[in-house]
Amino acid sequence: MQKFPRPALPAETVKALNRKQTAANKKSAAGTLNIEATWKSARQTKPVKAALGVLQKMAGPCQRCMYCGDSHGTDIEHFWPKNPHSDRLFRWPNYLLGCTECGRFKGNNFPLDQQQSPLLIDPTAEEPWQFLDFDPVTGNIVARFDTATNDWKPKGTETVKVLHLDCREALAASYQKTHSRVISKVEAALKNNALNANTLMQELRAADDHGLLGWYFLGTGQNVEPFASLRRQHPAIWQACVQSFP
Ligand SMILES: [Zn+2]
Repeated sequence: MQKFPRPALPAETVKALNRKQTAANKKSAAGTLNIEATWKSARQTKPVKAALGVLQKMAGPCQRCMYCGDSHGTDIEHFWPKNPHSDRLFRWPNYLLGCTECGRFKGNNFPLDQQQSPLLIDPTAEEPWQFLDFDPVTGNIVARFDTATNDWKPKGTETVKVLHLDCREALAASYQKTHSRVISKVEAALKNNALNANTLMQELRAADDHGLLGWYFLGTGQNVEPFASLRRQHPAIWQACVQSFP
């Protein structure tokens, strides 16, 4: 999982989506809104296709799912589920690119805290690795432990539970492969006397198929070798790498 900064949509696309939202809200107030049918027919229209195009660009050349970072992101995923949150059916900030598997696991599961804020990580709004941890031994993604509260981060716990991130074998195996690849790049870099932050980050981004870099540089992965050595031996390079994150 990684953070995907969300660009603004072109003004005309936003206007067209707003019109659809207003129409949906009216139907909803009248009790005549069929959410699935409304979405299905809107899905083929220009503004919704345009929004999907922007999501695909945000997700990068492989267009991977923004939740698991592994499978192909096949369609627009409503962060606040369409049902019952039809008031966000055509709202750009509510759109992510998701895979079929994550979509199936998530369904209409959308845990909220006592203030009614989502307990699911929104990868376009926050750095996922402040709530998540990676276990290199199993390849699983788990909740991050918060030493301040002496408990697991609730948003991490709920995200892992909703998306089954700690029990998807194929996903774990893919994350482990990426982890090995990234580690060997850093090991090679540590032997390079002319080490440079830009080149290193370019290489690491190319090797990082799953958005793990945030775990090494912003999460608990910084204590894992060879990242711990990189941080200790090259503090300036480490700092420059950390600052390159959105
Ligand atoms: Zn997925």
